[in-house]
Amino acid sequence: MSQTYWPRGLPRALTVPKTGLWHNLEVTAARFPDKVAVWFYGRELTYRQLRTEAARLGGYLQRAGVQKGDRVLVWLQNSPQFITACHAVWYAGGVVVPLSPMLTPQELQFFLYDAGIKVGLVGAELYPKARAANVSHVVVASLGMDVLHSPVPTPDVFAVPEIAEGDDVTWGQATSGDEGEAVDVTSSDLAMLPYTSGTTGRPKGVMHTHGTIQANIVAGSAWVNATSEEVILGTLPFFHVTGLVNSMMTSIYGGATHVVMTRWDREIARQLIRSKQVTLWTNTATMVIDLLASPHLTADDLKSLKNVTGGGAALPAAVGARFEELTGLRFIEGYGLTETMAQSHTNPADAPKLQCLGIPVFGTDARVIDLDSGRELPPGETGEIVIHGPQVMKGYWNNEQATQEAFIEIDGKSFFRSGDLGYRDSEGYFFFVDRLKRMVNVSGMKVWPAEVESILYHHPAVQEAVVIAAPDERTGEKVKALVVRRAGHDATPDAIQTWAREHMASYKIPRDIEFVDSLPKGPTGKIAWRPLQEAERAKARA
Ligand code: AMP
Repeated sequence: MSQTYWPRGLPRALTVPKTGLWHNLEVTAARFPDKVAVWFYGRELTYRQLRTEAARLGGYLQRAGVQKGDRVLVWLQNSPQFITACHAVWYAGGVVVPLSPMLTPQELQFFLYDAGIKVGLVGAELYPKARAANVSHVVVASLGMDVLHSPVPTPDVFAVPEIAEGDDVTWGQATSGDEGEAVDVTSSDLAMLPYTSGTTGRPKGVMHTHGTIQANIVAGSAWVNATSEEVILGTLPFFHVTGLVNSMMTSIYGGATHVVMTRWDREIARQLIRSKQVTLWTNTATMVIDLLASPHLTADDLKSLKNVTGGGAALPAAVGARFEELTGLRFIEGYGLTETMAQSHTNPADAPKLQCLGIPVFGTDARVIDLDSGRELPPGETGEIVIHGPQVMKGYWNNEQATQEAFIEIDGKSFFRSGDLGYRDSEGYFFFVDRLKRMVNVSGMKVWPAEVESILYHHPAVQEAVVIAAPDERTGEKVKALVVRRAGHDATPDAIQTWAREHMASYKIPRDIEFVDSLPKGPTGKIAWRPLQEAERAKARA
């Protein structure tokens, strides 16, 4: 066993509360009732207000028939309402299904069906799409601003739609009634089903319990030594695990103030860091690159920051160096997946390495294994990264086979197979080498090729299609499609992209479409995507 570095002053193991996630808000609201919990473009919500609104919405959900274990759609932009919505669902004993606001009704339909969702908490600007996708019962939240175009609040831009259909109600109606009582949960009850495609295939719901999520909230908070004095900048999308755990839930757990941004804008982020004296910020590499490119940025703007962590994709070394020069802080890279509810690894703040995934966090045992034999590999040798820890999912929703394939037994313990290739050094730091799995990483937003292909096949000119990752200077990777056109169809790449805009979220649209005469097939007749992916990488290196 190799020697493993461990941060000075941090215990090796942590005690994770056995209570459910609602309890975190309940306790913090009792400790800091008048403290600003959320700051949202000039509007503030105290912990008392947040708790009351969430409990009333939770009471409403119970009266609307939501029972323990029921899946509830949370489909909102980053906003105070998103935070209220999640806690209301937990109050009612339900399971949050957070989804990207960019989905089209057609895409949403798949998740509604797969998760068995009847009730949705939906932003007003998304309401027409939710209706088109047939969510049976919707509570509509107006965020009081044109969230899609202007990050400045302009009340009334989104008048809540006239609710004429079925039992739908407005947020105001749903948060004005009785609280009822919070439903009892245990740490092994299901709390959230975020979606990912995992290593292969269509998107799958990832089963996280109150316990797996608490484990990483507690771990993330302890790692950065977070106190109630923190001001956390929320720029990552809340529907994704990193935004959920490292911004939203860490903030509630510690009693911090959460400065929420609906969409990324470097000048607004710069001004907020300075004016709100932000101390903690978790982001993606592209946000740091963009912020550092601001002609207005000075060292003074970033003076309040004490810990800046990023994950989802590697930060270029030169950007890390420039960040350190400006702030005196090392950029702390972390690593994890939807299946590990954000981090399984993070760099120690007292000895971070650049372009490194970090070391396994509290109670987490990560190894590198040989792909064929499953044997553990020594430091320096590249294999698949596998993870055992308190934050690891319980399995994929309604998918026993994918669940079984996702785990491997080593030394009597069950390890989750990340689908990532990496190695560790002699001090126990892990490094990323490549992905085994099919995924395109567009600025940290993950595109699942099988999902994009299944939509592309609906285009009349597409006879066969395969989606791969192509390198991109700005976003790290972009989506590329290789398409065999049906005889007699002469659709151009532009025409297919215009069509795709109607049928898939914008970040999934292939930016590069190449027409080919045929696609290589494997022995079972499936399109062999890997050689195409490797050829694309080789072309970029040439
Ligand atoms: P997701 O499930 O959307 O969180 O995506 C997880 C995937 O993101 C991992 O399996 C990696 O392929 C990638 N990823 C996460 N963190 C890093 C990192 N620090 N460097 C490179 N890739 C990363």
